[in-house]
Amino acid sequence: MSIETLAAISYVGIYIFAFLCGAVIGSFLNVCILRLPLGESLVKKNSHCMTCGAEIKRYDLIPIVSWIILRGKCRNCGAKISPRYMIVESLTAVLFTLTFIKFDSAAYGFLYPMLVCLFLAAVIVVAFEDLDTKTMSVSVLVWCGVFAILELLNVRFLANTAYIESMTGTGFTDKIIGLFAISVPLLLIGFVITPLVYVYFLSEDHKERRKLKRRLKSELAPFDENRVNAELKNVNERIEARGQVFGFGMGDVVLMGAAGLMLGYKAVVTAAVIGILLGAVYGIYIKAKDRDGNSEDNAFAFGPFLCIGIAAAVFIGNFLWDAYFALMK
Ligand SMILES: [Zn+2]
Repeated sequence: MSIETLAAISYVGIYIFAFLCGAVIGSFLNVCILRLPLGESLVKKNSHCMTCGAEIKRYDLIPIVSWIILRGKCRNCGAKISPRYMIVESLTAVLFTLTFIKFDSAAYGFLYPMLVCLFLAAVIVVAFEDLDTKTMSVSVLVWCGVFAILELLNVRFLANTAYIESMTGTGFTDKIIGLFAISVPLLLIGFVITPLVYVYFLSEDHKERRKLKRRLKSELAPFDENRVNAELKNVNERIEARGQVFGFGMGDVVLMGAAGLMLGYKAVVTAAVIGILLGAVYGIYIKAKDRDGNSEDNAFAFGPFLCIGIAAAVFIGNFLWDAYFALMK
C-alpha cells in the first residue's frame, strides 16, 4: 500500500472519529441546553421521556441513530420526541468534522482543532439556550472564554506558531484586537446608547411609565402596597421588553469578546455582520407578521443569530473579510 493511500485512510479515520465524537458530545449538549437554565445537575439524573416520564433505555440513547430508529417517538408511550435532539447531535457532528477538515491535524496539531470544536460546542449551547430562554448561562460563556484563552496559549507556546498564524492570517495582536472589536461596541450600544436614546427620544414610553406609576400609586396605594409593587413591576417589564428589540445583553458582549479572542478581529467582525443581518431580516419578518400589532412583545433573542455568524466565521470569516476588501479596492 502506498504512503498516499495510507494517509488518505488515516484522514478518513480522523473525520469519522470527529463525527462520532461530535454526535456523542452533541447528545451531552442537549442535556446542557435543557438542564442549565433550570439549574439542574448535568450528570446525576438519567434521561426521561418528557411525556410519560419513563426512563430512556441505554440502547435508545445512541445519538442521531436512536431518534431515526424510533422515528421520533417514545418507545414506552409513543409520544412525539422533538427532532431538536437529533438536530443538535447532527449539527455538532458536522461542525466537528468540518473543523478537522479545515484545520488539518498534520499541520495544526490535534489540540488546535480540538479546542475549536469545544468552543463551537459551547457556542451551540449558548445559541439554543438563548433561543429557549432569552438568557445565556454564565458557566457556558465562561467556557467560551476559557477555550479561546487555551487556544491563544496553544498557538503561542505549543503549536507551530508561524505556520498557523500565516495560514489563518490571524496573529496574537489580531486576537487581542478581536477581544474588543465587537464586544466594546455592543457594550456601548446595549448599555449606553440604547438606554439614552430610549429615555430621551422615545419619551412617549418614558412618559407612559411615569404616568402609569403616578396613577397606580394614587389609585392603589391606600389599599395594598404589595399589589402596587406587583403592578409597577408588570408595567416596567412590559415597557422594557419593547425597548429591548434592538438591545444587546451582557451575554452577547461576553460571547463576542470570547469569539474575537478565538478568531481574531477580522473573523469576529464578519461574524457580527452575518449575525446582525440575519437578526435584522428576522426582526423585519416578525414585525411584518404582526402588522396589526397584536403581539405586545416583539423582542427576540439576538444571540442565536450571532452564534450562526460565529460558526460561519470559524470557517470562512477571514476569507469573507479579505474578499470584501479585495472587491472594494
Ligand atoms: Zn414516553
